[in-house]
Amino acid sequence: MDDLSHFCCQRPDCPDYGKRGQGNLTVCARYGKQNRRLLYCTTCKARFSERKGTPLFGSRLPDDKARAVLAHLADGCGVRQTGRLVRVGKNTVVRYGLLAGGHARRLHEELVGLSPRDDEGAAR
Ligand SMILES: [Zn+2]
Repeated sequence: MDDLSHFCCQRPDCPDYGKRGQGNLTVCARYGKQNRRLLYCTTCKARFSERKGTPLFGSRLPDDKARAVLAHLADGCGVRQTGRLVRVGKNTVVRYGLLAGGHARRLHEELVGLSPRDDEGAAR
């Protein structure tokens, strides 16, 4: 079962634009290596990528760098520290931090779920 409650329609003229948890979205296809979902809005019949509306959509940094920035921020690293660790500019970190906003926590959970952590946890 796909949890789509944190997605919302991305078409600005849709009555359900920007509203989450309306039950108007369904998954109509999957695409790409990472099996991303293509979402369908039953209200306005629009289709859009699940990445649209997330901080990573349309970002200029490569995925792994963007994720790294967000992961460090979500871990409580400061802007300078994050920039140094990921090797991106301070302004970029700030921009991503702002973009991420409320997404940060969910992204962090996603990241922890997806990426093996080698700096904590399991006994080695
Ligand atoms: Zn819609």
